Amino acid sequence: MDVGGIVLGPDQPIVGWRYWQMSRTGRLRSVTQKWIEWQPSHPLRAVCLEIHHPAPAAGCNCGVYATRDFATLRDHGLCLVPGVPIVVGQVALWGEVVTDDASWRAAFGRPQSLSLVEATVGEEKLDQALADLERYGVAVNLVSMDEAIGGASATMLTFQAMSLKTSRLAPPVGRPVDRPGGMPTPA
Ligand SMILES: [Zn+2]
Repeated sequence: MDVGGIVLGPDQPIVGWRYWQMSRTGRLRSVTQKWIEWQPSHPLRAVCLEIHHPAPAAGCNCGVYATRDFATLRDHGLCLVPGVPIVVGQVALWGEVVTDDASWRAAFGRPQSLSLVEATVGEEKLDQALADLERYGVAVNLVSMDEAIGGASATMLTFQAMSLKTSRLAPPVGRPVDRPGGMPTPA
């Protein structure tokens, strides 16, 4: 079977770049496939959810994804979801590795460095988020939205992060008044 890839051992991985978001339980999770969580204790092993062949395979979308360089990644933050912590970092990839245009898809992946985008985490949750990331046993730091994400995505996410903060800080307005809908009754 031609899978169009190379095979690398775990001691000789290639290193790419990717985004993660954080689950409610403080784990790294896939940006596009939210249910895929990365466990701190072991590498992520790719599975193909579409065709169920061994992942990754040429011509499919399966595999642990990473771009070859940070500049490419930075221009492709479009799938990131506002209101959920965003992490950017390097990831080691090994096993079968398929090469696409500017990215790789691999059988196995493990984070190598993690940078939490500060504006995507409320101040009160920052320490906890950093502690959660430190469980992965790699260097953890903070980055600004501008450093982490480029172009229109950064503008959109910054705006949404600010409005989330604003709504968190807004004073409680008390119980909403129960009003009947419809047109006011003429007096
Ligand atoms: Zn596949």
